[in-house]
This record gives sequence, C-alpha cells and structure tokens, in this order.
Amino acid sequence: LDAMLRAAGGGLIVLHDDARNAIPKLAAQLGVEAVYVNHDYEPHAVARDLAVQQALQSDGRILCTFKDQVIFEKSEVLTGAGKPFSVFTPYKNAWLKRMSEQAVTECRVQFDGKLGNPQALSQPMPTLQALGFERTNLSEMKIPTGSSGAVKLLDEFSERIGQYHETRDFPSVRGPSYLSVHLRFGTVSIRRLVRLALQVQRADPAAAEGARIWLSELIWRDFYFQILHHHPHVAKQAFRSEYDRISWERGPQADAAFAAWCEARTGYPLVDAAMAQLNHSGYMHNRLRMVTASFLVKDLGIDWRRGEAYFAQHLNDFDLAANNGGWQWASSSGCDAQPWFRIFNPITQSTKFDARGGFIRRYLPQLAGLSDKVIHAPWLASPLELAAAGITLGKDYPYPIVDHASARERTLARYAVVKTQSADGQPSS
Ligand code: FAD
Repeated sequence: LDAMLRAAGGGLIVLHDDARNAIPKLAAQLGVEAVYVNHDYEPHAVARDLAVQQALQSDGRILCTFKDQVIFEKSEVLTGAGKPFSVFTPYKNAWLKRMSEQAVTECRVQFDGKLGNPQALSQPMPTLQALGFERTNLSEMKIPTGSSGAVKLLDEFSERIGQYHETRDFPSVRGPSYLSVHLRFGTVSIRRLVRLALQVQRADPAAAEGARIWLSELIWRDFYFQILHHHPHVAKQAFRSEYDRISWERGPQADAAFAAWCEARTGYPLVDAAMAQLNHSGYMHNRLRMVTASFLVKDLGIDWRRGEAYFAQHLNDFDLAANNGGWQWASSSGCDAQPWFRIFNPITQSTKFDARGGFIRRYLPQLAGLSDKVIHAPWLASPLELAAAGITLGKDYPYPIVDHASARERTLARYAVVKTQSADGQPSS
C-alpha cells in the first residue's frame, strides 16, 4: 500500500493509537485544513468518527466523509414509501434498478505533493500481535494476502464463477471466492467485484447464472450494512424484539455444551469439522456457518450472541454487519430470517452437503476410516465398523452431546414465546 501511495505522490503514515487523539494531532502536525475518511457503519465506529470530527472542528478543521466499502449505503436504496427495506428480495430488486456504470467506476487517487515528507511522522509497522491478532493458517486455505493476493484470488475465481451456483454449498469443493477477508480489510474493492459479476453476466451466457447468484451474495453484504445503519440496536438485541423474550440455556451444563461446540467436540462430525476449520484457519464455509450457528441455537439452546461473539473473535473476515445478520438469520430473530420452526438437521445437512465426507475427513482425520455412509453419525456405526476404522467412541471421538430429535422438541417449546398475541388474544406465528 505504501509503495502504491508513493508512486501516486503520497505515502503511508502508520500510527497505532486511539483515533480520537491521533487524527487531530496528525492533522495539526501536517497543517491540513481537512481530513478525508470513508464511512464505517458499526455503532462504535460511528461514535469514534463523531468524536474525531468534533476534535477537528474545535481546531478549525473539517472531516469530509465518503462511501467506500459498499455499493449503496444508508438510505440510498429505499422502498417506494421511502422506508428502509427489511426483506432481502425487494431490496435486491431495488438495488439492481439503481445500479449503473457510475456506481462501480474506479476512482483514481492523486496527491498534490504538498505534504512534504509524511513518512517522517510514521511509526514502525506494528506486528499483528501488537494489533491483537493471533496467527492462523489462512495460507492453507489458499487465501493469499495483500492486494496482490486479492487480485490472484479474483483471477482464479473468475475462471469458475460460472459454476458458483452449483458448487457454493459444498464445503469440500473450491466453490466460493474466499474474498471475504479481502473485503473486510479493504485489500479489494467491492466495485471491482461487482464489475466482474456484471461483465460475466453480459458477456458469457454459460457463466451468467453463477455470476448472477454471486452478485446476490454481494448484495446481501450491502443489505446487512444498511440494516445495521438503520437498526443499530441489532448489535446487542434481536432485530425483532419478541425474540428477546426467549429464555436460553444457562449455567454449568450450558457452559459445558458451549465449550464443546467451540472446541469441536459435539459428536456431530459436520459441526465439529466446521468448528475445527474455523479454529484452525480463521475461515468457515458459508453453508457451515449456517449449520454450526443453527446447531448452537436450536440444538443446544444457547443464546445466539455467545456464538456471534465466538465467531467475531475467530473469523479473519469478521464483519459486524454480516456476522450479526448471519446469526440473527440462524436464530430466526433477524430481518428476513429462517422461520423459527425451521430447524436444520445436522445429519441431513451432512449427507446432503458433504455426502462423501471429504470435508469431515479433512478436519477430523480420526474419522477418516469410516465409510461414506456412517461418517455423518458415527454413533450409528456397528461395533465392527468402528473397530475396523480404529475408533473407540468416547475416546477417539465423542458421543453426540445432544439428541437432535429431543432438542428439536425443546426448541419448538422454547420458541413458542415469540408467537405474537393477536387482538383476540389468540397466538399467531
Ligand atoms: P462468497 O460466496 O464468494 O461470497 C462473496 C462475498 O459476498 C463474501 O466475501 C461476502 O462479502 C458476501 N457475502 C456472501 N454471503 C453473505 C451473507 N450471507 N451475508 C453478507 N455477505 C455475504 N461474512 C463476512 O464477511 N463476515 C462475517 O463475519 C460473517 N459471519 C457470518 C456468520 C454467520 C452465522 C453466517 C451464516 C454468515 C456469515 N457471513 C459473514 C456470510 C458468509 O458466510 C461469508 O461472507 C462467506 O462465507 C465468505 O466466504 P467467501 O468470500 O468465499 O464468499
């Protein structure tokens, strides 16, 4: 980034400090009249930017802010009645209607060179540890880093974008783009991604369907950003307040179940393989984010906020808007969410999306010797099969910590409180 900025006549100044202090101080040292930044929609960031703006203002400077990390933000896409959307499909249709070449045009950055030698004010680049990150094995996921890594990934993905709609749900296949971490850290531009999706749709009929579905995912990203902007309460509470009435499992047993989920010890191979992927690499496949989130909330009865916080801590692509949206979708408390009575069966999800057990075998090598049939539920394997695969249940791999059928019944009872009372006092869902 520094090299790119120098080539454009500027340079990178690295400071590791609280923005409220660092930005006004730096602006004073540089003697600038205005500070330019891009919008951040997370509640703490909005408060931070307001404080920076006030500090600059009291020194006679201005803060100029712009849209950058999304295509359409805040109130740019509204319903006919001028209200924010809370259902995805009409939002997507309105978003597509607003789309134009201009919305995805690349903006060039130029400096006038009046800043002198800005690098003289720079601190050494802090280490990842100093920034609070732990090392993960992202490279094993074949996710190269930096802007050049993002370009490589995008080039690679553009070759298979046409199959995206067929492959994206199967975690043992390289189906999705793996660009989320780059979007998160700004090492790729959302406009570049949308340009690719639109170009493929226009120019390559055979690949158009894959590109269309991928574009929909990029629109989900904008959708959740605008939800967070218009409904900042979602960061702490359910989007639909009636879901805050649910009473979640608490106490030592719930804590033990939560720990088993975090540590890939639930006894449900697809759930455990997914959690192992997250713990190992800082990435988790989208289908598995849905499966593991549903399992925590609807099989273990644990508050979605605990899972959300665990993902936030471990995902390299953690993004408050998308993560919160995903968790509220899985727990049914969100806008346009999974209906509360729809409960994923972790075994059916496994037989459907990892039929040959390729993903499970990769992350749970201790189960590798099991047949494709029983690898999804090892406790159903015969003693002979287990012995042949060299597995002692309870020792090499846990028994399931919960019975799905009874958990399902408990969840339906737990969620009964969200049924709203109609005017005649009758519950309706
Ligand atoms: P691709 O399939 O290639 O999609 C391309 C891009 O579209 C993604 O990089 C992402 O920016 C966007 N996208 C795709 N699906 C979604 C979605 N459902 N919601 C919003 N944006 C989407 N995504 C994050 O970026 N950060 C998170 O913290 C995050 N947490 C999630 C938590 C849960 C419980 C769930 C169900 C989903 C979460 N997602 C999150 C959305 C999705 O799982 C990831 O964006 C996706 O798996 C990233 O992989 P990819 O880049 O290969 O995706």
